[in-house]
Amino acid sequence: MTSQQKIIATTEKYSAANYLPLPLVISRAEGVWVWDTDGNRYLDCLSAYSALNQGHRHPRIIQALINQANRLTLTSRAFHNDQMGSFLQQLCDLSDMEVALPMNTGVEAVETAIKAARKWGYDNKPIERDRAEIIVFSHNFHGRTVTAISLSSEPSYRRGFGPFTPGFRQADYGDLGAVKDVLTNETVAVLLEPIQGEAGINIPPEGFLSGLRKLCTEHGVLMVLDEIQTGLGRTGKMFCHEHEREAKPDILIVGKALGGGVYPVSAVLASHEILSVFGPGTHGSTFGGNPLAAAVAKAALDVVEQEQLPARSAELGDYLMGELNRLPQNDIAEIRGRGLLIGIELKKSVVSARPYCEQLMRRGILCKETHDRVIRLSPPLIIEKNEIDHLVEQLNSVLTGDFARQSSEKLVSSS
Ligand SMILES: *Cc1c(COP(=O)(O)O)cnc(C)c1O
Repeated sequence: MTSQQKIIATTEKYSAANYLPLPLVISRAEGVWVWDTDGNRYLDCLSAYSALNQGHRHPRIIQALINQANRLTLTSRAFHNDQMGSFLQQLCDLSDMEVALPMNTGVEAVETAIKAARKWGYDNKPIERDRAEIIVFSHNFHGRTVTAISLSSEPSYRRGFGPFTPGFRQADYGDLGAVKDVLTNETVAVLLEPIQGEAGINIPPEGFLSGLRKLCTEHGVLMVLDEIQTGLGRTGKMFCHEHEREAKPDILIVGKALGGGVYPVSAVLASHEILSVFGPGTHGSTFGGNPLAAAVAKAALDVVEQEQLPARSAELGDYLMGELNRLPQNDIAEIRGRGLLIGIELKKSVVSARPYCEQLMRRGILCKETHDRVIRLSPPLIIEKNEIDHLVEQLNSVLTGDFARQSSEKLVSSS
């Protein structure tokens, strides 16, 4: 057994098997690069599902972490701390929202937004107790708690985990008419991702978000956008909804890159009126808004702003997309994306993108298949042009290699 195989064996022996990681063990990282325990270098094209937009161990973020760790890490919200207020001010300014509620993981912020929307509905509409409904979309991903999977349409996320939280209605993603069909007097909100990342980089038709915005305003329903994956520059704008005019949500959910790749930080942003549904004692989190999180998040936001990561993502995303379109297209059904959030969907005959990701790993490129046949490319936004060229070269080798033909034939015949 190699040393990596030994570590993997121990990990698999003692870890629940709720993930299927690629077979490498990372022990060091810097910027867009990671190293395994044998010293092999890889280009990180997953960025921890967009939690590493600023790259690994950005010096400024690490410095903020160290400085704050040397002063104060946790007070709980029973007392004020000297970091949270200025963090939330910066986040509100950046997103043009009035108030924020800090949490830790993405799914906690989603749960917080659902609670806010329901309570706002009861406070503002003639809805009977426990009857509020939220419209959600096919193929959504909002996290893994019981409530988040209750609004999922994905059997593998749900199977065996019921009973589920009631109060959600499904509509087809990208279909305004479908939303109108399920809208009732008891609807308090629509909740969606502006691009569905986990579902395989699904981009809704142009005008969907602004149409939804209009519909929500007309019916007095809150528009809640989950920008945990798409936010903070990933799609070439600070927030993905900025790609359309008049698509600003009532409630905005952020997470992932807000923690700069070092610490879990999430938040729900809205107007004062909406978030005032929470009074003392109605909602909380022991670690939410802690000073270490706040200091890290401020540095993470500084980096996004000062290094102009949204513009960088737009420019390099266009460049990467152009290069990808020149690759041999034999195995490719479609390439789609915005900024540096790109999905390469392989043809149905290919069956699985997994062997492609394994082959890329052997060539020093890390990415992860999503939903069987899509290779997701979401490198840190600090990636350089020559590093993108390197990625494209390796993709080219994998897509032209005998491997592609053999594996697709093999997979087809074994399916
Ligand atoms: C990752 C993600 C979540 C969940 O975030 P966690 O930090 O894993 O709880 C929710 N929504 C979207 C769109 C995501 O990409």
